[in-house]
Amino acid sequence: MDLKQEIFAPDGSIFDTHAHYDDQCFDECRDELLTELSTHGVGYIINNATGLFTSAEKCLEMSRRFDFCYTAVGIHPELVETEGATVDEQRFCELIKQPKVVAVGEIGLDYYWSTDRKEQQKAVFRRQCELANEHSLPVIVHDREAHGDTLDILREIRPKGSVHCFSGSREMALELVKLGLFIGVGGVVTFKNARKLVEVVEAVPLESILLETDAPYLSPVPYRSKTCHSAYIYYTALKVAEIKNISVNEVLKITSDNAKRLFNIK
Ligand SMILES: [Zn+2]
Repeated sequence: MDLKQEIFAPDGSIFDTHAHYDDQCFDECRDELLTELSTHGVGYIINNATGLFTSAEKCLEMSRRFDFCYTAVGIHPELVETEGATVDEQRFCELIKQPKVVAVGEIGLDYYWSTDRKEQQKAVFRRQCELANEHSLPVIVHDREAHGDTLDILREIRPKGSVHCFSGSREMALELVKLGLFIGVGGVVTFKNARKLVEVVEAVPLESILLETDAPYLSPVPYRSKTCHSAYIYYTALKVAEIKNISVNEVLKITSDNAKRLFNIK
């Protein structure tokens, strides 16, 4: 992985609230890359497990080995099929008690990839929101083409947390903020066709925004076709700074403080 590009983020100023370094595309370079990221402004990474077994194990292992890695555990909507139609609560509770588990995620609804399992997805999402509340943890929510149902469940169960890689409207974003939730903004905001997300960032106060990568996916411009990593958040922050008309360091500082508050990290 090439980290020679120009990243001027102050030490430790980048907080990546949503990454998947457990992805097999990092199998050959994971340790080297994570070590290097810590010297390129990255201070905090939350690896979001997609399932309660292999993925969660890999994320927890990174948390044990790297000071700046934290873990969110949960069942991703695309895995509802393989992980079962109900949450394995014994396993879930075992996992959330592990050190450095700071959230329940990645959980939510995905009607883009799997339209035929809506009811199952809703049940698993709803139960995980309830468990997050019972254990006083925030949630990290995936919502793809499922805005109405996502909002309904969040309104009903009222977890704290964030909607990652937000793709809804300005109105929905403001509704989520009213519920006390955060809006996750990633590389998509730098894309040419990102008009809707730019409007969202304009409308939502910076105090309710979190920055993220979704690494290895969704690299910001000018690295759009490359494998994404957390140092690229600098470019996402630059775009947010331009929209908000403030400095990039201010954006990094405020969004990192938001994340530390939400995920209870000192
Ligand atoms: Zn993700």
